[in-house]
Amino acid sequence: MFDFVFLGTSASAPSVSRGLSAHMVLHQEYRFLIDCGEGTQRQILRSGFGFKRLTRILITHGHLDHILGLAGLLSTLTRWEAIEHVEIWAGRSALDRIRSLIFGVVFRGERAQFQIELRELEPGPILVEESFEMEAFPVNHRGGQCFGFIFKEPARRPFLNDKADELGVPHGPERRELVKGHSIQLPNGQTIDPDDVLGSTIPGTKLVHVGDAGTTDDLMEYCNNADALVIEATYLESDKLLAERFGHLTACQAAELARDANVNSLYLTHISRRYRTRDVLSEAAEVFPTVVVARDLDRFQVKRHN
Ligand SMILES: [Zn+2]
Ligand SMILES: [Zn+2]
Repeated sequence: MFDFVFLGTSASAPSVSRGLSAHMVLHQEYRFLIDCGEGTQRQILRSGFGFKRLTRILITHGHLDHILGLAGLLSTLTRWEAIEHVEIWAGRSALDRIRSLIFGVVFRGERAQFQIELRELEPGPILVEESFEMEAFPVNHRGGQCFGFIFKEPARRPFLNDKADELGVPHGPERRELVKGHSIQLPNGQTIDPDDVLGSTIPGTKLVHVGDAGTTDDLMEYCNNADALVIEATYLESDKLLAERFGHLTACQAAELARDANVNSLYLTHISRRYRTRDVLSEAAEVFPTVVVARDLDRFQVKRHN
């Protein structure tokens, strides 16, 4: 299970009700910040989660509405918070800009009081833990080196208690061994294999985050069967030419991707202040009914759907 918090849901410039791009993903003790538009640090405080353990920052791309908040956030972290180490993951061109912002402006002429690790994203796994993994994939948005992110729990096979009872498997360590995939031997000499007591594989929970994007065909394979897809919807179909020109999606295109990739729930973000939220919602809902147009500080849980 993952928790997802929208910290900023506006495109390009803030509006009265929407801040610039920033999102938080939580899984057990892990916290990730995805993008860090101007004003993000205050939104983190308003969300109630604070800065604790927020040591991994993922950047979808280097446009200013996604990175300018890093300056203020890092300044605060270094002066006020007991954080010793921050990792910032981004594509190469975004990292160049972030490096200038952090070391040319925020910490110009002084040493940051904690370690800031700038790490270049490549498509593929970034973090693989026992309970989940996270990977980056390429996204096409006005030039290269833009990335989306997949958070995924491992697939699992349920333990069939009835089957185990029937076979006389005692409760206790024997069952744990079978769950781990090891065969066991009963006191009567009979061997029980994991396949005897484990059901068929259930895929793990999958959350996909796409920042700004200009095309969707190339995203299908990554979004496939996601329990939740968070993606930009900067324009409406009535402004489709503008969307194409600036490398963004319409609400309809985002919804078509969700439908075609068999996504369970769709969350739209990066909303332009030129539109009313209800118009964005109705355009997307016509194609994909289980859609939400996110508002700042909205929070939802991502669980495996059946
Ligand atoms: Zn943007
Ligand atoms: Zn952009």
